[in-house]
Amino acid sequence: MKKKKYSLTYLLTPDYMFEKFDSITPAFLTSLGIKALLIDIDNTLAPYEQPEPDERIINWFAALRAEGISASLISNNHPPRVELFNRSLGLDAYPDSGKPKSRTLLIAMDKMGSNTENTAVIGDQLLTDALAAHNLGLIALIVPPIKDKTTLFFKFKRWLEKPYIKKYRKQKGDNIK
Ligand SMILES: [Mg+2]
Repeated sequence: MKKKKYSLTYLLTPDYMFEKFDSITPAFLTSLGIKALLIDIDNTLAPYEQPEPDERIINWFAALRAEGISASLISNNHPPRVELFNRSLGLDAYPDSGKPKSRTLLIAMDKMGSNTENTAVIGDQLLTDALAAHNLGLIALIVPPIKDKTTLFFKFKRWLEKPYIKKYRKQKGDNIK
């Protein structure tokens, strides 16, 4: 694939922001022409300490499936976490995905039979999820982290993200769905 040159603003600014993962409806995705999703787990679907999906998560995936929207879990967390979380969901799941690198996303898209025109990334971090999406020209759907870690490293990452959240709000008129 030919590597395009993108601006830092494009790479890190969300295309859309939502309150929660399940504010992203099948109808909204269909309106964008999205047929496949690459979905982060930690702090997007569930906090770190929640090992398995709850009813809300299970229902949302059922609603996606009912609309014919494919989904894969793309996580930078390790296999035991991802496998246990996916046990009842039965999705294609990719631990240690190496986001923001493209490799695992491309493998997952290939498996789902989707392409850069009809695939979106859902996640909570601009430096991994939004960047991973935009490296491939995919749409980045971003939710605020469910329960952020309070370590200095995480605080630093959030500080780095701030200007891009601001840019999003400025573009969209503060419109978080
Ligand atoms: Mg995350």
